[in-house]
Amino acid sequence: MKIINAALRHQSGLFTLTLEDGAIAAIDAQPTLIAPVTASDVLDAAGNLVIPPLVEPHIHLDASLTAGEPEWNMSGTLFEGIERWGQRKATIDHEDTKRRAHTTISMLRDHGIQHVRTHIDVTDPTLAALQAMLEVKEEARDLIDLQIVAFPQEGIESLDNGRRLMEAAIDMEADVVGGIPHFEYTREQGVSSIKFLMNLAERTGCLVDVHCDETDDAQSRFLEVLAEEARASSG
Ligand SMILES: [Zn+2]
Repeated sequence: MKIINAALRHQSGLFTLTLEDGAIAAIDAQPTLIAPVTASDVLDAAGNLVIPPLVEPHIHLDASLTAGEPEWNMSGTLFEGIERWGQRKATIDHEDTKRRAHTTISMLRDHGIQHVRTHIDVTDPTLAALQAMLEVKEEARDLIDLQIVAFPQEGIESLDNGRRLMEAAIDMEADVVGGIPHFEYTREQGVSSIKFLMNLAERTGCLVDVHCDETDDAQSRFLEVLAEEARASSG
């Protein structure tokens, strides 16, 4: 496989990239523009810039393309946004979730993004969005690498069965353990949620990605708790 007529960052002129076994094996400067070739193993970049794919490290694919449904967030605050999402969540439908996720993934692809980490709300007792997204992950495999975070939007400790839902989501093969300590009812619950999620990650070998102190409350100090748990468990 070759990519011809490629422009590269900080380089003048055009280049031919030779790919072997999914990796770039050679980069050769071209003396001139190569005339377009019709061959299945040659891609003509036509003088456009060739760069590594971009990364989308934080998106909520289960909530994408739902603005205004069923109501707009009139205050513009995060907390009203979470409330509106709570209403929308009650109407979740398997196909609707998959359709919106696939549409969003196509938009990401069109902007050069290949690696995506999505948070998926796992505080719905049916885990319907997670099930849908696991299917999307397989179906979109040729377009993007999708990493799924089990995200407890309504809390781990302040929600009935919150811990069980997190464990069930990881059993279903979500890739990453999430959290939202500042959204728990009390500071103690926030601290306890971090200890629980770090323990879950350690038991299962999962990565951790926590929405931490995402609030204007200057008293929200969960980052230091999370950092200390990471330090204590790394010994
Ligand atoms: Zn988020």
